[in-house]
Amino acid sequence: MQYTEIMVRYGELSTKGKNRKSFIDRLGFNTRESLHSFSKLVIKANRDRMHIQLNGEDSTAVMKRLKQVFGIQNFSPSVKVKRDVELVKQKAVEMIKEQFEEGATFKINTRRSDHDFELDTNEMNDLLGGYVLDNIPGIKVQMKKPDITLRVEIRSNGIFLSSKTINGAGGLPVGTAGKGMLMLSGGIDSPVAGYLAMKRGVAIEMVHFFSPPYTSEQALNKAKELTSKLAPFVGSIKFIQVPFTEIQETVKHDVPSGYLMTVQRRFMLRLATLIAKKREGLAIFNGEALGQVASQTLESMVAINDVTTLPVLRPVVSMDKNEIIEIAQEIDTFDLSIMPFEDCCTIFAPPAPKTRPRLDKARLYEARLDVDGLIERAMAGIKITEIKSDQKFLAETSDSFAELL
Ligand code: ATP
Ligand code: MG
Repeated sequence: MQYTEIMVRYGELSTKGKNRKSFIDRLGFNTRESLHSFSKLVIKANRDRMHIQLNGEDSTAVMKRLKQVFGIQNFSPSVKVKRDVELVKQKAVEMIKEQFEEGATFKINTRRSDHDFELDTNEMNDLLGGYVLDNIPGIKVQMKKPDITLRVEIRSNGIFLSSKTINGAGGLPVGTAGKGMLMLSGGIDSPVAGYLAMKRGVAIEMVHFFSPPYTSEQALNKAKELTSKLAPFVGSIKFIQVPFTEIQETVKHDVPSGYLMTVQRRFMLRLATLIAKKREGLAIFNGEALGQVASQTLESMVAINDVTTLPVLRPVVSMDKNEIIEIAQEIDTFDLSIMPFEDCCTIFAPPAPKTRPRLDKARLYEARLDVDGLIERAMAGIKITEIKSDQKFLAETSDSFAELL
């Protein structure tokens, strides 16, 4: 079917009263960003619906992208025909035939925003229904839960037909809930946490700690490529890399091994907080899940949260690992996450981290360090890049390695 338009239905934002207009504006903006490579599209975000005129662009490719835009409940590819009943009849039969299988049932559902049209909705339903029955042998009418529902919309600029409703990503338009920093490692959990934050409307920026020469260029590139996997949900994402070597070496040297992890995490959270404040972030997100590893306990969260006043949000906190993995597979980060490049925490992980670290001890051990100086130097070494969808980072490095050999 050569579709001419995609009709988009909004999700939850319709319940948000006064904010409605800004939600719709944001959704329109995000959709344009996400579809910007399809240059012929015309996108109009109205109060009730969004209309995407295809102007010859490939509807399948457009819909694939559209499925990733948060704030969309569902959408229907449709065909516009002139306001001519004969043409509508032909197109209705053509459309239903495409989906028809032996014994299938159907109904016609007409809406009319243009009340000057010669037929009202009941007349249109009857006329088209009769024509379909006459022209598709074996098809039956059924009002309740038919296999095929043909929607017909009579508007002043034409008549629009659609027979498919495709689920969108749900959630809220990214950006309507403010900005947050996501602590992104190279693991499975933090990309999923980022996805879930975006789903509820938060614009995220990635904060990644790396420790050369203990961690390789590949580990850094893996985090960047994970960012690229999440970019289609928003267009592009800022990637903030923070040098962590000096802090980790110092902590390892000066802090008893049971508190290595806790103190490292406190530094990470301090840095993430400073970055958030500089960049107007309102919260910090991470991929911690309760009980998943020794360092992810409530006691540990108490000992870590101590260094910040920002909310530290953990979208996967109560999920089982297999539930997290399921989402990671859905958003296509899983295969990348399980690639074996060591990140900074694995290398500096103590053999036996305290599962119930005490806040007073964490503070005490940390007081021996030059916290301000360490933080200042790490902040001075920050590098920020903007990452778009489909950008490849791992492949690049292997190429340049090949050249060196
Ligand atoms: P993940 O799968 O996200 O790596 P994990 O179960 O391996 O999580 P940890 O390695 O203990 O758990 O990390 C817990 C959280 O701390 C991560 O989800 C992430 O948010 C943050 N974190 C860990 N390492 C880094 C890093 N190098 N840079 C940024 N954030 C990190
Ligand atoms: Mg990890």
